[in-house]
Amino acid sequence: MTSVALVGAGLVGSLLGLMLAKRGFNVEIYERRPDMRKEKISAGRSINLAISTRGINALALVGLDQEVLSQAIPMRGRMIHSVKSELSFQPYGTTDSEYINSISRATLNKILMTRAEETGRVRITFNKRVSAMNFATGAVDLVDEHSGEHSNKTHDLVIGTDGSASAIRQAMLNLPDHASTDHVLDYGYKELTIAPGESNSFKLERNALHIWPRGTFMLIALPNFEGSFTCTLFLPFEGPLSFERLRTPEQVAKFFEEQFPDSVPLIDDLIETFQTNPTGRMVTVKCDRWHVGGRALLLGDAAHGIVPFFGQGMNCGFEDCTVFSDCLDQLPDLNNVNWETLFTKFGALRKTNTDAIADMAVENFVEMRDKVADARFLMHKAAEKVLQNEFPDKYISRYSLVTFSNVPYKVALEAGKVSEAILDQLCSGLDDATNLDRSLALQLIESKLTPILAPHAAELNSLISRRTSVSSR
Ligand SMILES: Cc1cc2nc3c(=O)[nH]c(=O)nc-3n(C[C@H](O)[C@H](O)[C@H](O)COP(=O)(O)OP(=O)(O)OC[C@H]3O[C@@H](n4cnc5c(N)ncnc54)[C@H](O)[C@@H]3O)c2cc1C
Repeated sequence: MTSVALVGAGLVGSLLGLMLAKRGFNVEIYERRPDMRKEKISAGRSINLAISTRGINALALVGLDQEVLSQAIPMRGRMIHSVKSELSFQPYGTTDSEYINSISRATLNKILMTRAEETGRVRITFNKRVSAMNFATGAVDLVDEHSGEHSNKTHDLVIGTDGSASAIRQAMLNLPDHASTDHVLDYGYKELTIAPGESNSFKLERNALHIWPRGTFMLIALPNFEGSFTCTLFLPFEGPLSFERLRTPEQVAKFFEEQFPDSVPLIDDLIETFQTNPTGRMVTVKCDRWHVGGRALLLGDAAHGIVPFFGQGMNCGFEDCTVFSDCLDQLPDLNNVNWETLFTKFGALRKTNTDAIADMAVENFVEMRDKVADARFLMHKAAEKVLQNEFPDKYISRYSLVTFSNVPYKVALEAGKVSEAILDQLCSGLDDATNLDRSLALQLIESKLTPILAPHAAELNSLISRRTSVSSR
């Protein structure tokens, strides 16, 4: 059978390794960091993540959905914190079954690595960084992160799951016909912590994603299993209200007291942590070809880095694994695979969708930091709620399509544009969304939205049946 090497034992690499092992492949994974199960290291950017339907489905394929979800906290909506410290709750879905889950990145990564190794077919070599690849021979250059020693290993097939700064993608870009655009956001992010209260109690509402939206910037907080919250401040690098203007303890204290007053007594060692924690950067990577012949492929953030504002980067990378394993399952003989054909097919299935979620993630940043407190947005949300309650099998919001279904991202993007136009028309001149014109709504939905969603009825079935069973109770 083909000898497969994966570069990077992050979330996507570990899951893909497990999926390949379950199909009988022997997999070598090179990971540049130490083993986080043995050494206390940070699991990397973002301490916790929101996992939703696409990610959960991929985990279910390897029997890990329940194990992971048992360590996650459901977040049923956004809890908005105003400058005056008033709270308002915006549910994510129409029923209790529509929620996203906050999970520790380290917990998830450890489970995936351990389950992959337990198959006996996956070997993870830690502290080995891949620095280059020869696509003609399949040789990867390895650097030992402790000794600095160089070595190389040859494999039939190499899959780069090495994240948004992928070394395999960089190597591909040296070849003719390979190009990529990296769009670095002019915003950075910084993580802070709210410790658990007494007896591991939660100091904020536990089943919510907390947002302090402030127009051009925002603070968010996601709950952790043991009662803490991880807060992330998203702020421009430069400008009047920016990281470059928050240098002294006084500047940081004043900024938080003015902008997020209710968070100040909750965040641990605010000033010190703010000054010591790194400021992360965010990038959208769109790369036009993900493979070189049948020799190498990119998957996860290595192929499509997206900004984190739809909570979909990992979910999308996990969906890559689902689609890739579906492609494998359609082959008659895994001992005799035409990898180039498979990679071409896989790229054609994924690329338009990953481009779509990349664009929606950028748009959602504006929604989260600015629009959640805006009157037109709130009217649209209220109207959406009416439509989802009245027509649970017909009106499905873009958020629900992305987060609670497996409908291709490209379709969610198209449906979202149509829904926005429908909402604009229905809300025009209205003060109260509950008074919207139901018969016009039905006519617009059936004529404009249904044709886009009808071909995906099978993917929408479980979402719709959960909704309709609740609304008929
Ligand atoms: C602030 C923030 C919040 C986020 N929140 C969410 C969220 O709520 N939901 C969600 O779905 N997504 C979220 N994401 C996105 C998510 O983190 C990524 O999409 C996900 O981590 C991608 O997984 P990956 O395995 O492709 O890459 P990575 O997680 O980056 O893993 C890559 C692995 O490769 C290793 N590696 C790198 N280079 C080399 C090399 N040269 N040789 C060997 N090993 C190498 C790294 O050490 C790492 O272990 C968020 C991202 C950020 C920045």
